[in-house]
Amino acid sequence: MELTTEETKVLLRSRKLKATPTRLEVLSTLKKHTSAVTFSEIQRVCTNTDRVTLYRTIQTFLDKGIIHKAYQSEEETFYALCNHNCSSEAHFHDHLHFKCSTCDQVTCQQLTDEIKIVLPNFKINKVDINITGICNRCCA
Ligand SMILES: [Zn+2]
Ligand SMILES: [Zn+2]
Ligand SMILES: [Zn+2]
Repeated sequence: MELTTEETKVLLRSRKLKATPTRLEVLSTLKKHTSAVTFSEIQRVCTNTDRVTLYRTIQTFLDKGIIHKAYQSEEETFYALCNHNCSSEAHFHDHLHFKCSTCDQVTCQQLTDEIKIVLPNFKINKVDINITGICNRCCA
């Protein structure tokens, strides 16, 4: 998702968040990447912000429907920007996450076909699908 600084500010305002330098920097880091970004990458870029503030900023974005956790490994959590379907009330995702074992990139992938998950007598609130393998760029 491409966002200009102005759009980033509008996005923050629409979620009733002040456009602080840290928030703008974290969002610009995320939007620069076509794949999901790890916490340590955000930390590496936002050198003027301490770890606790970065954690808090990310938590706020998660709560406000601006970003989502794309993948969690033992060492790292990957974050990706949400689309406009997400709001401060809820996240609405109909995509899955693909982790490439060759380049270690995590990407959000739209499905060409809808997956139907049927669990009789279970109520599903959220479907989280993580797939690992080799991405199209590494396969080429
Ligand atoms: Zn979302
Ligand atoms: Zn790859
Ligand atoms: Zn995603």
